[in-house]
Amino acid sequence: MVTSVMPTYGRIDIAFERGEGPYLFATDGRRYLDFAAGIATNSLGHAHPHLVAAICEQAGRVMHVSNLYRIPEQERLADRLVATSFADTVFFCNSGAEALEGSTKVARRFHFHNGEPHRTRIICCTHSFHGRTLGMLSATDKEAYREGFGPRVQGFSHVAFGNLNEMRAAIGDDAAAILVEPVQGEGGVNAASDDYLRALRAIADEFGLLLIFDEVQCGLGRSGKLWAHEWAGMAPDILASAKGLGGGFPVGAVLASEKAASGMKPGLHGSTFGGNPLAMAAANAVLDIVLAPGFLDGVDRIARLLRGKLEAVVRRHRSVVEEVRGSGLLMGLKCVVPSGDLQTRLREQHGLLTVGAAENVLRLLPPLTIDESHVDEAVKAIDDACAGLARDAA
Ligand SMILES: *Cc1c(COP(=O)(O)O)cnc(C)c1O
Repeated sequence: MVTSVMPTYGRIDIAFERGEGPYLFATDGRRYLDFAAGIATNSLGHAHPHLVAAICEQAGRVMHVSNLYRIPEQERLADRLVATSFADTVFFCNSGAEALEGSTKVARRFHFHNGEPHRTRIICCTHSFHGRTLGMLSATDKEAYREGFGPRVQGFSHVAFGNLNEMRAAIGDDAAAILVEPVQGEGGVNAASDDYLRALRAIADEFGLLLIFDEVQCGLGRSGKLWAHEWAGMAPDILASAKGLGGGFPVGAVLASEKAASGMKPGLHGSTFGGNPLAMAAANAVLDIVLAPGFLDGVDRIARLLRGKLEAVVRRHRSVVEEVRGSGLLMGLKCVVPSGDLQTRLREQHGLLTVGAAENVLRLLPPLTIDESHVDEAVKAIDDACAGLARDAA
């Protein structure tokens, strides 16, 4: 018999009843160190007092009014995102997939508005993940996700991630935009090089394409800068954000330059819930913390510390793990043993929560608020689990 919750996830048999900072407490009382953070979403950890207070305060005043009216909290968040990024304008929605759908619409409408309505194709990359809507299934490079879900939505093609020759060759009269994750998450934690991102900017400019970055996972401070592409000293035309932006509250956003958004006008796109006062209060509270002086430098520092210690773990246990990947606090351990074995052992024997990724990689996505003691606790768990797996194999 089917479960009352539709069986779309293979779930781990743990339920949490409470969280505090980077820790989660299960219904059986066990404490876990959470290096999954709701898949890069609980950017401030659990029950952060400032985020909790902001949500409670806003819920007690007004939660939702619809976008039929002005929403001061939305204007404030948009102003702040504009002031701290390449963007001139922002559309709010509720999830990553929606932010990417919106980004695609903005890009296509730009060309339509400029008298080139045939420019519709979005060039995506191998190993990409952009979400589960019908449209984003076509942008995502994973055939298994599309199987049985009907005709493939047209207007997306794929080239090898990191390969500029393939990218140039894929551009034709119908190309509208390039869509890339600066650091691929689900696809195996692959960080694009700064040179690659800069070259994509140059190619987009040369051929009149828009450059869209999917920073749903790698953005909002996780890289140690507010947006991951800032490390490359360049900017896209459009950026999709979600996951960490609401700190656990569902918020997505499409950030765009004035030029890229020039085709948009009232009536062309919308969302009932998008940008409602409650969601905006949550995201504004997250920004209060992430934009506070010194916070992002702290993320960068702690990420480098974690990376250095993980590299030492790899040197000690080469029969179990072979490489540290990623950028900032979006880190991957490329495994020699099945990554699921390491993930299970970490959870069951050491109380450390992690996330899987493609290419036999184990993802580490801690809250941005972790300190050195949490790094030490996690690294000890990983070191011990690797030693245990090596012993088992011997
Ligand atoms: C999670 C994710 C998405 C999809 O976000 P949802 O909120 O699940 O729709 C899109 N792109 C990237 C890079 C992601 O990590």
